Order: sequence, then C-alpha cells, then structure tokens
Amino acid sequence: MWLPFTQMKDYDENPLVIESGEGVYLRDIHGNEYLDGYSSLWLNVHGHRNEEINQAIKDQLDKIAHSTLLGATNVPSILLAEKLVSLSPESLKRVFYSDSGATSVEIAIKMAYQYWQNKGRPEKQKFITLQNAYHGDTVGAISVGKVDIFHRVYKSLMFESFVAPFPDVVHHSDLSTEEEVRDQALSELETIFQEHHHEIAGMTVESLIQGAGGMNIMPKGYFKGVEQLCRKYEILLIVDEVATGFGRTGKMFAVEHEGVQPDIMTVAKGITGGYLPVAATLTTEEMYEAFYDDYTSLKTFFHGHSYTGNQLGCAAALANLEIYERDDLIGKVQKKVDIIKSLLAPLKNHPHVSSIRQLGMICGIELIEDKDSKKSFPWEDRVGYWTTIKMRELGMLTRPIGDTIVFMPPLATTEAELQKMVTIMTEAIDITTKAAVGV
Ligand code: PLP
Repeated sequence: MWLPFTQMKDYDENPLVIESGEGVYLRDIHGNEYLDGYSSLWLNVHGHRNEEINQAIKDQLDKIAHSTLLGATNVPSILLAEKLVSLSPESLKRVFYSDSGATSVEIAIKMAYQYWQNKGRPEKQKFITLQNAYHGDTVGAISVGKVDIFHRVYKSLMFESFVAPFPDVVHHSDLSTEEEVRDQALSELETIFQEHHHEIAGMTVESLIQGAGGMNIMPKGYFKGVEQLCRKYEILLIVDEVATGFGRTGKMFAVEHEGVQPDIMTVAKGITGGYLPVAATLTTEEMYEAFYDDYTSLKTFFHGHSYTGNQLGCAAALANLEIYERDDLIGKVQKKVDIIKSLLAPLKNHPHVSSIRQLGMICGIELIEDKDSKKSFPWEDRVGYWTTIKMRELGMLTRPIGDTIVFMPPLATTEAELQKMVTIMTEAIDITTKAAVGV
C-alpha cells in the first residue's frame, strides 16, 4: 500500500495496523490499544462501533446498498437532505452530495464558477482564499489551498487564486491587539475586493478556524466582516465546515458563532459520525435556480461521482444526527469544552509549549524550542512528529501539524478518557522536547 499524506519511509520505521475499535479506543493487530486522540482524522463523533449507527447501516443493507443519484434519487438521501437543511444556516436550502471534504469543495468551486456564467457574468472566474488555507487535495481544492509545504510542488498544475492575509493573532507581533490584527486583515481583503471584485466569483474560507494550516482561530468579528465584504462586493461566500461541522466547535456549525450566512457551505467528516464517506455541498435557493432551466440552455451542473448519495452512508448519517438530537450532544459538548480547557491549562507553563489554541473540541498545542526568544525547533528535527510517535508508544494516536500537536477527541469522550489523553500528551511532550534540547 501507499498511504495518504505519509512518507512511506517513516511508516516502514513505525508501522501501525488497526484491527478493531470500541468507543474511543483503537486496537492494533498485536492487541495494543490506543486512545483515538484525533477522532480518526477529525471524523469520529460517538466512538467506534456505535450500536445505533451500526444497526442503521445493517438495516439499510437489507434494503439496498447503493443506487445512482444521476437522474434518480433514493430514500435516505432525501431524508438526510431535509435534515441537513433544517440544521444548517437559514440561507441554505439545497444539498449536492459527494464523498469527501475535497470533493465537496471542488463542487463548491465549480458551482460558483458556473453560477456567474449562468447569470450572464462570465468575467467572474477567479477565487480568493486566505493564507494557510486548506480545503482538501483535489486540484481545484489545492488551488484555493495555501499551505506552502503541501501545495508548492503543484504550483503549475493549479489555477491561480488571490490570497488575503489570515488574521493570525498568535504569530503576530506582540505590539498588535486582536482588534488591530483583525481590522488590518479586513482592510487588506477589502483592497483586493475593490480592485478585483468584478473578476472574483467566490471566496473560500474555513469556518472560524484554520485546521491543517496550523489550528489558527480567527479573532472575534473577522468572519462576520468577511461575510459583509462578500455581500458588498458581490462575491459568493463559500464556507468550508468540513472540519468544524457537526459540533466540533461547540455549535452544530461554526458559522453560528458569528451568525454568518454562507452562499455555499461544505460538510463531510463528522456527517456520518466518522463511519462512511459522505459529503455535501449546501447552497442557497438562488444559486439552485440559476442552474434550473430547459436542458438546451446548457445550464445543467455537469458534475457527479459514482457513489454520490450512497444509501448506506446516508443511513449512517441519519442515525448519527438522530443521536445528536436525542442526547443533546451539542449541549454536552459545551461542558466538555470547559473540561478540556482546564485539563490543558497546566501545559501553558510547560517550557516548550508556546501556545494552546482551542475552539470547542478542536485543540492545537504548539511546541517551541525557546519561549523567550520565540525560537522554533529546527523543522528537520520534526519534534511534533516524534512527540506523536511517543504518544503512540504511551497509548494514544494523533497527528501533528508541524510542531503543533492536534488534540481533537471524539465528542463522546468521557471526562476520565479526556484526562487520560491529556496525561499521555503531556508526558510525550515532556519526554520529546527534553530530548530535543538535549536535557
Ligand atoms: N476542508 C477542510 C477544512 C479540511 O480540514 C479537510 C480535511 O482535513 C478537507 C477540506 C478535506 O477533506 P477530505 O480529507 O475528506 O477530502
């Protein structure tokens, strides 16, 4: 096999083969158990082998596993679309399915592009994105992605997008307040809009927090400011809720924190509780109508995937979302957010932890060589990576982003399990950073 986002030489040195899972634990073929500290890459919600989701998949399997959504529809995909529209912001009324976060973004980009053509404004063809954005790995999604280490090799393959600065409060000069960082970023965004709005179709933006770009949280008011500028300059607001959707940030969708109403919103990952590959691109009725016409107008959205609207996946998603409602999961997440906050607090004093960023149950713990001089560890030393390998030895899985350790446990993780996870993480940080500075 050839694994995604993996240097296979690393894997061969530290292989891992998972055989089963139960709750927030994963078990490998040797019987070792690991706490799932990254929700199996930001997906899992209720833990592994949840009986209700398993049963919903089995029940659906007895009816049918899959039939195409091209020119036909099916029962669970209709029910799920209704559910998604009822849960999402008021502006969103239509659901286009696919099977991964990247495809949901790819679809959003193509829809926005074609929308302006269908509306008779074909000059609006470009996109604008934020520095350090990550929206998935297909060619359209990387064209609005701006994480240098992932994207630079594909430069000549991608279409060019405008890039606005991300209001990075943590890595900004100490002299700037949060408000100054926010206002400066909004003003630079407006300058680009003023000059180029006539050629910009849409702006892609991760909802409130950039994930793979480093777990950076927007200062209060920035996201709302982006929405207002998009409206003012007639630029479609494409919000990526792939990582943040379904309760991770303490709200069903992160847009709710600032009352943002997207023109397009992408969801994936947690939609099925982390069980099956389903994604969706939600749009306004206005966008939908711009494609609705006689076939000969050629306004059809010519895009689709074989497994779009897969019945097993939609049945899993429906069961997943039922548990949210029945168990008031979002309400419970609020309590866990506070527990995580207090569990992580002592790490602030660690000599090699420079910042702890938390939005709901999404956390990034950034490691640094020297706090006073703000000197980073040499990137080739891969201190973040080795910390996660040490965590694995101690019984917990996660993946780093550079020297930032991602901590994103399943929403159902209990207080005792959260405590165990943080204990392991602290020990691994301690051991690895000490070794890195030669203590
Ligand atoms: N968008 C965001 C914000 C993400 O964090 C990710 C994945 O981490 C994606 C898109 C891509 O999702 P997928 O890996 O399902 O293609």
